[in-house]
Amino acid sequence: MHHFQYKGNELYAEDVALRDIVAQVGSPVYVYSQATLERHFKAFDEAFAGAPHTICYSVKANSNLAILKTIIRMGGGVDIVSGGELYRALQAGVDPKKVVYSGVGKRDDEIEYALNTGILMFNVESEQEIDRLNEIAGRLGKKAGIALRVNPDVDPQTHPYITTGLKKAKFGITMDRAVEEYKRARDMENLEILGIDCHIGSQLTKVEPFVDSIRKLKELIGELKALGINLKYLDLGGGLGIQYDAEDPPLPADYGSAIKAETKDLGLHLIFEPGRNIAGNAGVLVAKCLYTKERDEKNFIIIDAGMNDLARPALYGSFHGVQPVVKDQDGMIPADIVGPICETGDFLIKERSVPMFKQNDLMAFMSAGAYGFTMSSNYNTRPRAAEVLVNGDKFVVIREREKVEDLVRGESIPAWL
Ligand SMILES: *Cc1c(COP(=O)(O)O)cnc(C)c1O
Repeated sequence: MHHFQYKGNELYAEDVALRDIVAQVGSPVYVYSQATLERHFKAFDEAFAGAPHTICYSVKANSNLAILKTIIRMGGGVDIVSGGELYRALQAGVDPKKVVYSGVGKRDDEIEYALNTGILMFNVESEQEIDRLNEIAGRLGKKAGIALRVNPDVDPQTHPYITTGLKKAKFGITMDRAVEEYKRARDMENLEILGIDCHIGSQLTKVEPFVDSIRKLKELIGELKALGINLKYLDLGGGLGIQYDAEDPPLPADYGSAIKAETKDLGLHLIFEPGRNIAGNAGVLVAKCLYTKERDEKNFIIIDAGMNDLARPALYGSFHGVQPVVKDQDGMIPADIVGPICETGDFLIKERSVPMFKQNDLMAFMSAGAYGFTMSSNYNTRPRAAEVLVNGDKFVVIREREKVEDLVRGESIPAWL
């Protein structure tokens, strides 16, 4: 559930009309609802009441400092996948002991930064990374807390591009190598084995794949115990889906009870890395209709936001709902809603029945709070959109719209030209 609702003909974010935001900030603009973020975090947290747990919000879903602060203030930690994300999380005031670091390609300087920061643990994704961590920690005179990210080879039944837990995926260490690698890590001086981790994919709409992977992990945890390797943390990653269209994902409470039932006898502290579930439905992208045109077979609605602002439809064929900011259209038409980018793949909506938007109408693309702004780019030298956070009847620009001057910063013309 979210706080983007109509009052009369006007779409609001909490108690602020989206039209008023655009009047002050311009378009396109991402608008987030603080009440929605808090509600989603709380629902997730309460789903694990009674089980020791930490919610390490996945920074890559939406990494704006104000969003991170909202999560951190509620007791959350973060899951990071780069040194840049660590920097952001620290800027927002995260407790380093609530930071887990995932990612297949951690660089030396990023590892050093995380070790010097004193993060909780590294989710190690390869055999070579184990050695690298041990070496760098030794050099710095530190101990690196680690969990091995294992790949349980479970099909999460989601989009192939966001399926990460199959054997053929680039992520994690395969089940059949895991015990050997734990043994190797145990004998390394500068590592402390803290846990086990998996993250099987994103936008999962069923609990079964989560439960299946826990069952596989449990066998492994048992084998490790028999070898005297005792873990503290079970990190189950993120991946719980949200409703974009007609999906019917489990409620956090149902996901929580299934997981609690499966893990209650393990005596492990649970870690979760939700991203989309917290931020997805807490944001919209508001854009303006620039032109409309009709072809024999097709209607196009051309807007001031494109695939550089919201990449998911172009990248994965994802569905985003669209709603008028002011409802005054004459019915619906079948159309493509497209951006200004010079690519045929630049659409936000393809062949759907949509309100009959006319020039200057504003529209909100729903469920754009996760993997929206963070995946945006400057393609076609388009400044990235502004971001706004609403709290009740107040709103603040939490990221200014970029200027073209920002986009050429750092470029230079060599003297020979
Ligand atoms: C992307 C990612 C997440 C978050 O996934 P969601 O589907 O947004 O919950 C969590 N953990 C890891 C390792 C990730 O790569």
